[in-house]
Amino acid sequence: MAWQGIEGHDAIAARFAQAEAAGRVAGSYLFVGQPGVGKATFAQALALALACERPAAGLIACRQCASCVQALADSHPDIDLVEKPPERATIPLDLLIGSPEQRLRTGFCWRLLLRPALARRKLAILLDADHLSDEAANCLLKTLEEPPPGAVIILVGTTLERQLPTIRSRCQTVRFAPLETTAVEAILRAEQAALGEEGSGADLAAVARAAGGSLQRARLLLNEDVAAFRGHLLSLLASRPLAGVVLSRETLTVVEAAGKEAPLRRARLRIILEQAVEFFRAGLRVAVGGDPPNDQAMAEAVGRWQRGEAEADACLRHTLDALSGIERNANLGILIDAWSAKLERPGGRS
Ligand SMILES: [Zn+2]
Repeated sequence: MAWQGIEGHDAIAARFAQAEAAGRVAGSYLFVGQPGVGKATFAQALALALACERPAAGLIACRQCASCVQALADSHPDIDLVEKPPERATIPLDLLIGSPEQRLRTGFCWRLLLRPALARRKLAILLDADHLSDEAANCLLKTLEEPPPGAVIILVGTTLERQLPTIRSRCQTVRFAPLETTAVEAILRAEQAALGEEGSGADLAAVARAAGGSLQRARLLLNEDVAAFRGHLLSLLASRPLAGVVLSRETLTVVEAAGKEAPLRRARLRIILEQAVEFFRAGLRVAVGGDPPNDQAMAEAVGRWQRGEAEADACLRHTLDALSGIERNANLGILIDAWSAKLERPGGRS
């Protein structure tokens, strides 16, 4: 069963439930794990449950008491959440200790020292812990070392290596594993159903596989520009002669539109290359007298392509090579260029 509706982290939830039952919840935690596996959602659900007036066994919030109602409305006086503003590179010091005029009279650290107003304890979540400057981290040290009695502070980052040693040593680390592919697929399916978008045609199983256990990445892969690119990709692959430069440029554009994060870019490229693999596999099957694919757009593109078995086989191999190179290549632009050039001259020496 998914703890409080959160997929994939029941074991962590069980540990917190045990700690709470034994009165041994620590004062400072550091949650780490790749983006999009549910760390922030978990932290908020944990705060909700730890603040609840009558949680059920297994540390499950009742969602009805005064505390839960306020928390669910994001207006709980004892639950604090601070994150990096999107336009900033680091978490501003002001958010932690107040602006220079009001230093130590507002901010995350100051609020934590107030007496709880509604719950039995103060709960504070700091997202984007990867983006704490040295100065901001220093401000947090004392708070992390000696949180007020009963208070629970949760820092959320991606890897331990990205946290300063002084922060790491003051927190209990909780590691969040990537989600199972089946869990990602189930969540996507539920989200599409909730939006009335079932049958959008997206291959959710393929998206979940390509997402590598990150729901955030899966949602990105499902978004419109990647989906829209598929038709264009098929027509580029099917054109004769294949325009390698155009294929390379347009693929890179879609990959770069994922933003700066390398895992998201790689995930996009992976799904594009998997579509190309599917295309060349279908081309190979047709070349040896097999049935055309069921998918209409794919069948049309393969019908236009019409190359022999050897060329289909070579293109398939080049694409599989590129796919397996994604994790090894820091520079996706070079990888995409090389792949496109090989498709343009599939028989050439590689
Ligand atoms: Zn409650």
